[in-house]
Amino acid sequence: MFVPPRRVRFLFFIFAVFILLSSGFMSLSGEARVLKRGMRGSDVYELQEWLVDLGYGLTVDGVFGSETENVIKNLQRAAGLEPDGVVGEQTFATLSYLRDSIVSYTVQKGDNLTKLAKRYGTTVMNISSFNDLLNPDHLIPGQVLYIPTTSMAVLSRLPSRLNLQWPVEGRVSSGYGSRIHPVLKARHFHGGIDIAAPEGTPVKAAAAGKVVSVGNRGNYGLAVVLEHADGITTWYGHNSKVLVRVGETVKRGQTIALVGRTGLATGPHLDFRIKIGDQTVDPLEWLP
Ligand SMILES: [Zn+2]
Repeated sequence: MFVPPRRVRFLFFIFAVFILLSSGFMSLSGEARVLKRGMRGSDVYELQEWLVDLGYGLTVDGVFGSETENVIKNLQRAAGLEPDGVVGEQTFATLSYLRDSIVSYTVQKGDNLTKLAKRYGTTVMNISSFNDLLNPDHLIPGQVLYIPTTSMAVLSRLPSRLNLQWPVEGRVSSGYGSRIHPVLKARHFHGGIDIAAPEGTPVKAAAAGKVVSVGNRGNYGLAVVLEHADGITTWYGHNSKVLVRVGETVKRGQTIALVGRTGLATGPHLDFRIKIGDQTVDPLEWLP
């Protein structure tokens, strides 16, 4: 019988261990599978490490028990998802997004929280509470801080993030961010998403709120602005007709306007925006 030399067997052993470890890792970071209560193993272990990195306090033991389930439910509530405690595709996507929003920073001599908050677009309070800093006025050079950047800071600030619905059914013809303007042919920052729909399609309130502005806004056309909780507003531009008045309270899903092409538009579409204070955010990260 052929017996491989010891060194070869050892290499095979190492290889097998590596495959086992990496397959567990890949199923969480690549093709996401559903994780839920009662499961245990390396995927659960990795999930718990992610949650700890995000600032949640829990035991990292590879066992998906009630503690992990509650943390997931809290996170889902914060993200406006159905709080079922199950890590499916959407929850997984939210986790990856949040994880990418956190910056680890090693404190340098002369640093202070005000300076760091300004640099990363967050607040002293956010950094301080995220890191459980007992003495925020006294940072030690070499100390590692986890800094929640704007999107993470926004999420952690809003315990009941808006439960949004799509204002119009249609194809997103232009996304949020930097783009070449279709009419002006120059690069500019697009503060919303364009949803293409036939002229006259009902435009619905993405969430319950109060009408704070109605009228012509130049390039943005005939527009409606709704105000919601926590300083959040939603914006609906290029309408052909507006069906609500300033001061009116609207329900989620209520028709507030009709799709049009007023202002600077190549065809009928809704330009939908979400603002927190003066800051626009990517609606695709908020819509279901
Ligand atoms: Zn637009």
